[in-house]
Amino acid sequence: MSTHPSEQAGQLIDGKAIARALTEKIGQDVAAFIEQGNPLPGLAVVLVGNDPASEVYVKNKAIQTHRAGMRSFMHMLPESTSQDELLDLIAQLNANPRIHGVLVQLPLPKQIDPVVVTNAIAPHKDVDGLGEVNAGRLALGMDGIVPCTPLGCLMLLKSVHKDLTGKHAVVIGASNLVGKPMAQLLLRENCTVSVGHIHTQDIRGLARTGDILVVATGKHGLVRGDWIKPGATVIDVGITRVPTHEGRTRLVGDVAFDEARHVAGHITPVPGGVGPMTIACLLHNTLQAARVTQALLKNGDAS
Ligand code: NAD
Repeated sequence: MSTHPSEQAGQLIDGKAIARALTEKIGQDVAAFIEQGNPLPGLAVVLVGNDPASEVYVKNKAIQTHRAGMRSFMHMLPESTSQDELLDLIAQLNANPRIHGVLVQLPLPKQIDPVVVTNAIAPHKDVDGLGEVNAGRLALGMDGIVPCTPLGCLMLLKSVHKDLTGKHAVVIGASNLVGKPMAQLLLRENCTVSVGHIHTQDIRGLARTGDILVVATGKHGLVRGDWIKPGATVIDVGITRVPTHEGRTRLVGDVAFDEARHVAGHITPVPGGVGPMTIACLLHNTLQAARVTQALLKNGDAS
């Protein structure tokens, strides 16, 4: 058993507070970066279509980017945008020296292939880390840009456990966006990693073996209290908007929180857990991308 002092049964992992501290630190690092004669880091966010949830996400990203002292470029394109039009914009953003990070908000309208689009972003500007170069680097254990949500989850885990070595980590959900890179990151931390998905037999039995349980399925309330190993650390990535009895809506996660909190040692709430960390990690990745670009320029090999 770990002896980390913050380990007590049923503690909430306050993603909001951890993200606020990280954003503050990034703001200080940005100021120091500029003082050293470097340009203001710039992040371009592209939204295609009018999905209300995505609109909220990209506006939040712009606000937080400004807050960290970086420059934000927003590109709002109509739902009818063709793949070629989007690829043209990405080529312009790749070539723009004031832009260090490019993020295309997912999901995209059906006429656009998200894999083609993410692979079109220059690898050193791919701040979502979803392109084949950064995904391959992560799989090979090489330095690169790590996808924001799994990176945020890892930081939350590290706020509880200084060292993850030897722990059994169960990841439920195997998407390219969350589950797969999460599993790679946990492997890198010397965990024994199991990945469950829609075709896994006895997913509850698998979940119960996890000292660490990361859930990213989009199926709200899927993970019940009896899916959780007593004392486990639970990270709930899921976000679903559901109607309330009062005719409003609220956000819920993939974990049945009221049951799970009595079994878990530590658990993230929804909202206020992984969500804020995703944005903070986007800022982290943008500053990292700006640093890499400046280093490439100094060496004379930036494209
Ligand atoms: P996805 O639909 O691409 O992948 C879902 C995965 O879950 C798949 O691998 C599927 O096999 C698995 N799955 C689905 N139902 C299952 C079941 N009953 N049992 C076991 N496995 C099951 O989703 P995604 O993009 O990875 O997102 C997952 C959730 O995380 C969504 O709610 C999304 O909104 C949320 N999300 C949150 C953040 C954040 O910042 N908090 C970021 C990204 C995604």
